[in-house]
Amino acid sequence: MKGLMMDIPLTVTSIMHHAERFSGKTEIVSVSNDNPRHKYNYKEAFRRVRCLANAFQGWKLIQGDRVATLAWNDHRHLETYYATSCAGYVCHTINPRLFPEQIIYIINHAADSYVFLDPDFLSLIEDVSDQCAHVRGWIVMTSSELMPKTNMSNVICYETLIEENSDEFFWPELDENSACALCYTSGTTGNPKGVLYSHRSTVLHTYGAMMPDALNVSSSDVVLPIVPMFHVNAWGTPYCCPAAGAKMVMPGNKMGDGPTLAALINEEKVTTSAGVPTVWLNLLNHLRASGETVDSLKRVTVGGSACPLSIMEEFDSYGVDTRHAWGMTEMSPLGTSNPTGAHREQYSPDAFSAIRTNVGRPIYGVDVKIVDDQGLELPWDGDAFGALKVRGPWICSGYYEVANSEAHSEDGWFETGDVATIDAQGFVAITDRTKDVIKSGGEWISSIEVENCATGHPQVAEAAVIGRPHPKWGERPLLIVVTLGEGEELPVGELKSYFEGKIAKWWIPDDVKFVAEIPHTATGKIQKTKLRDIFKDYVFPE
Ligand code: ADP
Repeated sequence: MKGLMMDIPLTVTSIMHHAERFSGKTEIVSVSNDNPRHKYNYKEAFRRVRCLANAFQGWKLIQGDRVATLAWNDHRHLETYYATSCAGYVCHTINPRLFPEQIIYIINHAADSYVFLDPDFLSLIEDVSDQCAHVRGWIVMTSSELMPKTNMSNVICYETLIEENSDEFFWPELDENSACALCYTSGTTGNPKGVLYSHRSTVLHTYGAMMPDALNVSSSDVVLPIVPMFHVNAWGTPYCCPAAGAKMVMPGNKMGDGPTLAALINEEKVTTSAGVPTVWLNLLNHLRASGETVDSLKRVTVGGSACPLSIMEEFDSYGVDTRHAWGMTEMSPLGTSNPTGAHREQYSPDAFSAIRTNVGRPIYGVDVKIVDDQGLELPWDGDAFGALKVRGPWICSGYYEVANSEAHSEDGWFETGDVATIDAQGFVAITDRTKDVIKSGGEWISSIEVENCATGHPQVAEAAVIGRPHPKWGERPLLIVVTLGEGEELPVGELKSYFEGKIAKWWIPDDVKFVAEIPHTATGKIQKTKLRDIFKDYVFPE
């Protein structure tokens, strides 16, 4: 027997309609290229979205056409998200930190018809535009007065486009399974691969992400998404905030700037934010140096790479609860979240430190398992390490225009490329990327845990651990460190003894190398492939 419930398509358009009707006066504040504090509300934002949608219609785009963005987090980027998806096109967000060859590759692979870009990225595009055959126009996201000079043809001013188009538009009825957005993985090996989100997956992820144990977004929140809208849809915040009716505060190109972040938090009374560990380091360094506080801030979600305990403990001193989360582009991105900070009184201080650094339990909607080399499921005992597999309605079932995906198995699970343990309560701890694991004497060492411990040393700014060949153990860990004293070296013996009692003795790195800088990927992660290349001739001392 079938249920008797309305079959209403789950679309991004419904999020827009809801926010416009019920939270029209809720504010959106952005740092944009032409205004350090642009302020308006959802009603005005979605009025301008209709102007853009009319512009698309004038360009005779066909449903499903890809329209790209190369932009920071601000109100114009938000408008472009909604205008593209709700009018039936696909919003293809491009990470400007990718190499120019990768940008050319993905613009061509996606066959983008128009590209919206911030003026900051015009010179990047000037260098590559003649290699992007499908692109019919480049829209610079600024006012007519500030339009930069360029020799490129088909360049359009964003604000002129809004002015010239009517704000009356009849939104099409969309199939909930049609594509709404596209984001390419950074492609550390091979070409970047496109993850194509549907309206349905986006709406379901929005419900999941808003839940109290996930991002916990409500109408009384003021949300500062520091995670970029050019990578995995800023962890879904551009959908969660309008859906919940939360005020949005967007940092524009200042997302790595501690003083701007502190000013935005204090001026706009930000209650919650989301970002990768590096941005939190910038904010905390600024607070430490300036003596400022962030009194309105209650919660930050940290993910994208492992969050060191030292960041969590420093946030504690400002009264801010850190929530460790894990996910990936292929998962829209939220997979797990660790809200234990909300009930820390249940734990002893040591137990709390141990539990809060894992990435928590799956958000309802996401299922997980760990498997061994033969694909057999491993026990959830907190010890067994295995390849982490996931499934769920907001996890990709394949890559855009890629015939065979090795990561997708026939039984419907997606292999994340991460190695993890799961304990009896279902708490997941990410040990490593599969390609980064260190195997010493046949046993695995978690480079993430060793790095986390090293970062707790008061003189260590950033740490990375890689495996190097060893005649006896097969592989041993080599620690690479950037010290706070910019390149200043510490005694190796002293650093090694720092680990004693904190991690298993045989996990302690055999040697330490001091560098001025650790290389990062376009998404801000430690680039282990490059580190392994830099230290390819390294030999452990006898
Ligand atoms: P890209 O695929 O472009 O590198 P993603 O953001 O999709 O970027 O990266 C996902 C990967 O980032 C995960 O598979 C995992 O290895 C890592 N990651 C994400 N969050 C965490 C976390 N909290 N702890 C450890 N690793 C994480």
